[in-house]
Amino acid sequence: MKSTLARLGARIVACRACPRLVAHREASAAAPPRRYRGERYWARPLPGFGDPRARLLLVGLAPAAHGGNRTGRMFTGDRSGDWLFDALHHAGFANQPTSRHRADGLRLRDAWITATIRCAPPANRPTRAELAACEPYLLEELRLLRRVRVVVGLGRIGWQAYLRARRALGRPRPSRAPAFAHGAPTTFPDRVTLIASYHPSQQNTFTGKLTRPMLRGVFRKARRLLDRQPRSRVGSGGRSPRRRVAVSRPGRRAGAGARRR
Ligand code: SF4
Repeated sequence: MKSTLARLGARIVACRACPRLVAHREASAAAPPRRYRGERYWARPLPGFGDPRARLLLVGLAPAAHGGNRTGRMFTGDRSGDWLFDALHHAGFANQPTSRHRADGLRLRDAWITATIRCAPPANRPTRAELAACEPYLLEELRLLRRVRVVVGLGRIGWQAYLRARRALGRPRPSRAPAFAHGAPTTFPDRVTLIASYHPSQQNTFTGKLTRPMLRGVFRKARRLLDRQPRSRVGSGGRSPRRRVAVSRPGRRAGAGARRR
């Protein structure tokens, strides 16, 4: 029998609620760059993946048109993934430092990777309506990942998506308004900690805004925080959401855009 996370994943993969993104993910597959010519693209939305009992959650922006949209797994087969899995492996959250394709043997330990939006957006810029349409999937994932104690927001959009999701789920707010700064932690009254990180996009890694030691440092911090937690403790946010969240059918359209940071 499929687990609830697997059933959620199957619903995500079948989603066609955002016409612009459906067109883009399929057009990217139909006209790949020369280096990927002849490859069969995934060209569908991407579910989260990792350890269902994870205490560490990563919230990214969206799959890349020729990365996850090609390989069928988040951060797999692109440069962002090279950086991310190096850092995860370094901190003991992944069994290998690379992520090339879905059958490459990668296993996450105590970590789960998800995204704000599940389809590759043109120019990495989802509209507000597309972000809103995809949010119910993130909310349901957060409800199901009951052990999460540390969250890494990859880029401002992933970081904000987690804050929005907490509000939507009725989870307690921090005493001070959080500010986005690389490596900055925000601890909530339910003792979940959100760490902000620059996104390992080429825009940040090529310019030196994000270096490998900086990204490794984020996951070392996550490891230290988790090492202080008793392993058996279940996240209080997952135990008692104040209000029930119905996962609506995704579907509203167009609005102002958002960009990776
Ligand atoms: S709601 Fe999410 S999964 Fe569905 S088409 Fe839009 S971006 Fe893709």
